Amino acid sequence: MTTSPIALGQPTVGPEELAQVQRVFDSGWLSGAGPTCARFEGAFTAVSGVAHTVATTNCGSSLHLAQLALGIKPGDEVIVGDYTFPATGHSVMWSGGKPVFADVRSDIWSIDVDHAASLVTDRTVGIIAVDPFGQPADYDELRVLADHHGLWLVEDAACAAGASYKGRPTGSLADIACFSFHGRKGITAGEGGALTTDDPELADRARKLHTYGIAPALSREGTATLPVPQFDELGYNYRMSDVQAGIMLAQIDRLPTLVANRRAVAARYRELMADIQSIALPVELEDRVHPYQSYVITVSSELDRGAVAHELRARGIGCNFGTYASHLQPLYGEQQALPVSAALFTSHLAIPMHANLTDDEVVRVAAVVREVVGLASVRA
Ligand SMILES: *Cc1c(COP(=O)(O)O)cnc(C)c1O
Repeated sequence: MTTSPIALGQPTVGPEELAQVQRVFDSGWLSGAGPTCARFEGAFTAVSGVAHTVATTNCGSSLHLAQLALGIKPGDEVIVGDYTFPATGHSVMWSGGKPVFADVRSDIWSIDVDHAASLVTDRTVGIIAVDPFGQPADYDELRVLADHHGLWLVEDAACAAGASYKGRPTGSLADIACFSFHGRKGITAGEGGALTTDDPELADRARKLHTYGIAPALSREGTATLPVPQFDELGYNYRMSDVQAGIMLAQIDRLPTLVANRRAVAARYRELMADIQSIALPVELEDRVHPYQSYVITVSSELDRGAVAHELRARGIGCNFGTYASHLQPLYGEQQALPVSAALFTSHLAIPMHANLTDDEVVRVAAVVREVVGLASVRA
């Protein structure tokens, strides 16, 4: 039995990605919004079940672009699912808005729609729902709430490539969805992101703003005249590079296999650990497909989570806390107390989850978790 350390997360990249990068080098167009980005956008549009994709630098910039495209104004309030990486809250502040955090469901950790409803004021313009570790939020109920108050709905699908909700793929569940291709996500180009939408006007606005507020250079290629763009609004450089887009083309081909591998690991963890009393395993709802960007267990308050993590790492098992209770971050100022999210923030522990884990490794992780949570030294 091997005893080398087992990584918490790991990208799956190889010769296919290198071949795509070589093609981009050969094309001579390495910068963003070029022909390879256009191919990536076409491929991602196909897997997302929407009409338009804009390739971006990351999920945070996609969230920023989404809100600008939707017309956010300074001082507008945006209701945000609390349990998330703070890119979600930051993006509202970049847009000049005020994030108002809503508590989350205790079982799947996505925005609690009833609590979100209680936070709507006459300054509220939209809702950003997060798909925690990739499992989609309650989009049917969120749509009803948004429509009732005339709000827009954005999906932070950073971890959710390859997931689905009632048979519909992530990317198609809100007015705009935003993805991350950071190295810790399910598909990756190291860094990168995408914005998807069915609305051609939103796509056009996001596309213009992601390239300094003008039409991308590719759209001026091959014209008979010499079109000189005019700058009439403040845009950004939020373009994915064509080198990253090449990597992403190979990653999209891999997506079904990567999701299947992760789901197989999750099923194995459930077989091997469901009987351990002092931890709870993640809940997967029947009407959605969870892509398991991370595998997060809930550690009983009778145990010292820090001591558990220390012992796991000492035995070669990568682990980390889950994600953040946004409302507890000082940056965001005064917010309501959100007890569910606050409890997840202190009790969650992510254990190894990636598409390259072997069955031996999964068995070893489960055995070590069982051993460690049974130790007297990890009692709180
Ligand atoms: C990782 C993550 C982000 C940030 O993604 P970047 O591509 O690094 O900007 C945003 N939201 C959630 C829920 C995430 O997990």
